[in-house]
Amino acid sequence: MDLYEHQARELFEEYGILVPRAEVADSAKEARASAARLGGRVVVKAQVKTGGRGKAGGVKFARDPAAAELTARQILGMDIKGHTVHSVMLAQPVDIDSEFYVSYVLDRSQGRFLAIASAEGGMDIEEVAATRPEAVVRMAIDPFEGVPHKKAAGIAAAAGLPASAADTLTALWSVLIREDALLVEVNPLVRTAQGQILALDGKVTLDDNASFRQTRWGAQGPADRHEADELEAAAAAKGLNYVKLDGEVGVIGNGAGLVMSTLDVVAGCGARPANFLDIGGGASAQIMADGLSVILSDPSVTAVFVNVFGGITACDAVADGIVRALESVRLTKPLVVRLDGNNAARGRAILDERAHPLVEQATTMDGAARRAAELAHAA
Ligand code: GDP
Ligand code: MN
Repeated sequence: MDLYEHQARELFEEYGILVPRAEVADSAKEARASAARLGGRVVVKAQVKTGGRGKAGGVKFARDPAAAELTARQILGMDIKGHTVHSVMLAQPVDIDSEFYVSYVLDRSQGRFLAIASAEGGMDIEEVAATRPEAVVRMAIDPFEGVPHKKAAGIAAAAGLPASAADTLTALWSVLIREDALLVEVNPLVRTAQGQILALDGKVTLDDNASFRQTRWGAQGPADRHEADELEAAAAAKGLNYVKLDGEVGVIGNGAGLVMSTLDVVAGCGARPANFLDIGGGASAQIMADGLSVILSDPSVTAVFVNVFGGITACDAVADGIVRALESVRLTKPLVVRLDGNNAARGRAILDERAHPLVEQATTMDGAARRAAELAHAA
């Protein structure tokens, strides 16, 4: 789970990293009051879980509380890369002397953490890395050694950061470890005109596997992603693993591995998967009905591909599930079913017997994908 900038800021402050004084507001009126408490002149910053807010017009200066109210009114409700702004952070402006980039990120391929640092902060680090790779320093961090002062000083020196940034680098490492984060990024980390090192923007991604012991942030705040959220939420409520994609072929399968390869095969047939729906091991009638109703309510779906490999839950049980699902869900789009594995023949016979005009069977995954792609395009 990603944290909002203001949550990252709160954490940084707790770990002794200097941050601007700030308050969060979810209305323009509140923004005005916050600005007044903060001394009048403020930076108004959209709180959305995406970067590049500055470029999108989501970070603006206001010279007094009245201007802060106006600016907040402009920013609240704004759409930044598909995220709606529900709140703003008002921060005391900082007089910047120079901007840097620092982050710690889990490097799964190396089984280590990576420190990434650059004296060219403030802008898009991917862009700096692409155009001037020598300006970005990467150093492996042994998770058991962490970032004691000496290591921090080494990172700062290698990247061309001021020596005084070392304490921040050490504190940032503590944030990563103690908060169970997979990523902690500060861009920009700045040196102020007065020579202080200050974190001006923060991104923290927490490891969801540790959420049982990191209860402080609770569930996500107000959902700020619109698009397919309603369907995703409905599926999650039914315990289904559903991910919305942008194609036209609805995909239902049992097991993440099978579903992922099904997406590939569908794409290989020249169609685009509309979603990822894993019904898991126990493909009961209820789960089938729930899965089908989620997929059929996605308007972009023009054909559905059910790909099941029978295991502990055998194909005849899955076929029964489909038949019973057809009683409660009105099928409005063609359904191609491929059953293989345990009791496949019995499962296919059950569907043959039901003989629903919109249900077709195929014996191979490739054949089924081709047919589903064909039906999707014909629709
Ligand atoms: P992002 O665009 O989503 O990364 O948002 P940031 O919080 O990083 O803000 C974008 C840019 O606005 C920063 O890189 C700074 O250059 C600038 N900025 C933000 N806050 C301040 C501030 O207090 N003072 C000054 N001078 N610039 C700021
Ligand atoms: Mn930034």
